[in-house]
Amino acid sequence: MRVGVFALQGDVREHILMLKALGAEALEVRNKADLDQVDGLILPGGESTTISKLLDIFEMRQHLKDFISSGKPVYGTCAGMILLANDVLDAASGQKSLGAIDVSVRRNAFGSQLDSFETELLFDEIPAKVAFIRAPIVERVGPGVEVLSKLQDGTVVAIRKGNILATSFHPEITGDKTVHKYFLSMVSAQA
Ligand code: GLN
Repeated sequence: MRVGVFALQGDVREHILMLKALGAEALEVRNKADLDQVDGLILPGGESTTISKLLDIFEMRQHLKDFISSGKPVYGTCAGMILLANDVLDAASGQKSLGAIDVSVRRNAFGSQLDSFETELLFDEIPAKVAFIRAPIVERVGPGVEVLSKLQDGTVVAIRKGNILATSFHPEITGDKTVHKYFLSMVSAQA
């Protein structure tokens, strides 16, 4: 099982380490040839506006869309979630998403006081320690989209529909393997 981490920008290294720790082969993906070699792909956190621009500069937007529609599993964390969402609230002007999952996400939704924090939550009913870093939240969940995590106040922060998984938070920062394990089980079910 070979899993790619999209490596134009963001915290690529941490995801690679998590995947390797779980026994998967991990590859940095920068172009179509890399993408062709992987069974699943992680879109890391970083800055969604920058990643969106780089997608066009490196001509990867359509290749990513094709990868997604082929049914191979894709997991977006934080900026990666923003890239996968159908609707982005508080988007930067001209910011385009891939429109891969029917949710509305709001960028930088926690404001300056709670800008970044670590917390424990339930992911698919399993306790997980995760980090939120200038994170988005899910404000609208479309039909058929499964909610996998909520904060205590009910805010939706992890979702899945079919081959698309997305979390507002970063599990790779705390080293908690729960979410990566879940994603690898999606990849092995598909491969
Ligand atoms: N605030 C960033 C954005 O809008 C996301 C931050 C992150 O990925 N940690 O893209």
